[in-house]
Amino acid sequence: MDLQKKQGELEKVIITVAPVGAWPTRAMNPYLPISPEEIAAEVLRSHEAGAAVAHIHARDLETEEPTADTAVYQAVFASVRAACPEVIIHLSTASGAAKLGLTPEQRIRHIHELKPEMASLNAGSMNLHCNVFINSPETIQQYARIMTELNVKPEFEVYDVGMIENIEQLVRKPGLVSEPYHYGLVLGVPGGIPATVKNLIHLVDALPEHCTWQTIAIGRHQIPLGTVGVVLGGGVRVGFEDNIYLYRGVLAKSNAELVEKAVKIIRELGLEIASAEEARELLSIPVSC
Ligand code: ZN
Repeated sequence: MDLQKKQGELEKVIITVAPVGAWPTRAMNPYLPISPEEIAAEVLRSHEAGAAVAHIHARDLETEEPTADTAVYQAVFASVRAACPEVIIHLSTASGAAKLGLTPEQRIRHIHELKPEMASLNAGSMNLHCNVFINSPETIQQYARIMTELNVKPEFEVYDVGMIENIEQLVRKPGLVSEPYHYGLVLGVPGGIPATVKNLIHLVDALPEHCTWQTIAIGRHQIPLGTVGVVLGGGVRVGFEDNIYLYRGVLAKSNAELVEKAVKIIRELGLEIASAEEARELLSIPVSC
């Protein structure tokens, strides 16, 4: 099978920045943005460096822990929108759910409220670190239905190859989610598929025709495996959510440094970076009315 056919013959490469996540702490990297203003500043820097999409989590200001509080998401959303009107805002519906034990309703409330252009839709249940990350078939279908109603483009977060089949089974129903589907292939999360080149090819091979996708590789695999994904025709996600180091033992001082590194490699490969406007077109993001 020609893997590159699935991604439209290596069109421009979409870079997503994930500047916050649920896992890293300031003890791990003091440059982790927490407040809405800090997150907005990091998104702006990353967008200027080449990121078309910003995948965002919210953090409680006092505890710095992940939160699904709509008011906090609203403050982050407004700050990012004001600082960087062009970037595609992509909100999490995980929000540290495995750690916090959130209900499906708590995890999707801010999507109802804010109607971002994109949101994550986790494609199955799994052990995650020392917790269980529950995404039941009912929740996946419910989220797909809600996102379609709200004109929010879902990114199916896939942590193992069986989850691609979950999406086929649950979402490929008339009217539920329109094609082309967009996938985030997550490799290297404890409990998910390990971050190897073989596994990335296996995941890409299992994708349906005419979809778009990106590689989300964890830790030291972020840039090397992300590069392999780019060569295979996918986009790439970088940022502190998945990796806090610029080089081995050297912390990144900004998410933008990781974006710059990805941009440099992609250009060296002879490929171009998609602007936010181009990314909207490549991802078939619905036009809001
Ligand atoms: Zn996330």
